[in-house]
Amino acid sequence: MVRAGLTSAYVSGVSSAPLPAIAIVPPAVGDIPEKKTRRKHRYERVGWVPFVLCHCIMLGAFWSGVTWEAVVLGVVLYYLRMFAVTAGYHRYFAHRSFRTTRWFQFLLGLAATTTIQRGPCWWAAHHRAHHLHSDTEKDLHSPRIDGFYHSHVGWLFAGNGETDWKRVQDLAKYPELVWLDRLCFVPPTLAAIATILIFGWSCFFIGWTVSGVLVWHSTFLVNSLTHVFGRKRFETNDDSKNSLLIALVTMGEGWHNNHHRYMNSARMGFYPREIDLTYYCLVVLEKLGLVWDLKKVPERVLEEGRRADAERAA
Ligand SMILES: [Zn+2]
Ligand SMILES: [Zn+2]
Repeated sequence: MVRAGLTSAYVSGVSSAPLPAIAIVPPAVGDIPEKKTRRKHRYERVGWVPFVLCHCIMLGAFWSGVTWEAVVLGVVLYYLRMFAVTAGYHRYFAHRSFRTTRWFQFLLGLAATTTIQRGPCWWAAHHRAHHLHSDTEKDLHSPRIDGFYHSHVGWLFAGNGETDWKRVQDLAKYPELVWLDRLCFVPPTLAAIATILIFGWSCFFIGWTVSGVLVWHSTFLVNSLTHVFGRKRFETNDDSKNSLLIALVTMGEGWHNNHHRYMNSARMGFYPREIDLTYYCLVVLEKLGLVWDLKKVPERVLEEGRRADAERAA
């Protein structure tokens, strides 16, 4: 029965994916602790050892040499995989800020698994929890609570490997997404092997590994640094900030204070001067008919931001 349902959805090409039924209510002011209450965490060796080894693999470039082909592949794979995380894992799976077909939904999830950030359900469940508990003691990666290392990478190895399926019931009804979650390390392994076989070792070390490590840290910067450095336009009940620099390396995710103020929008650079590459790509995909119903920022929120900017400038 499930197989029949899947087939008909693919044939029709129309997603049965509903628009967001998710409602994330951020913490109230009183829930945010005033002082740092640093906790001790146990980091699992089975997690951080392979993570460190992946960094060591980059050193192989000293043996293989660096070719122009490898550098170009690295840049292409960096932006493709970054887009898969920002448009796919973040804006689509976690926030459902636009709609698409079921096959493109799968493609976004598949592409994002090649960043080795587990599967779409795991990613969305943990990110929804972040918005729900931002900078409180329940936040998985708050620099205020647990410091830079834990908020950047440590939380990944601190017993957070399971998916909270209750938080992603809207995604769990698609068997192919559940498979992606369960087999999340298969696509990146196959893609890495294919890179070696097709393009050679230099492309593997530079094009695949260096760009993959950069995608990791760019993504993690959004959890760590955008809750520490930058400008706070909106008075949200958390430490989120806006940073042009992080927006440039993360294809728009650096407008994090905007995002915490209104998380359902497909756009994170709310104003024309705020560069948001992911959003520009989504607009192109919308023109191609691959995505639609890009959620907008309400005018009242835009006006609130303009007032805050004017007050600050006065
Ligand atoms: Zn945040
Ligand atoms: Zn978010």
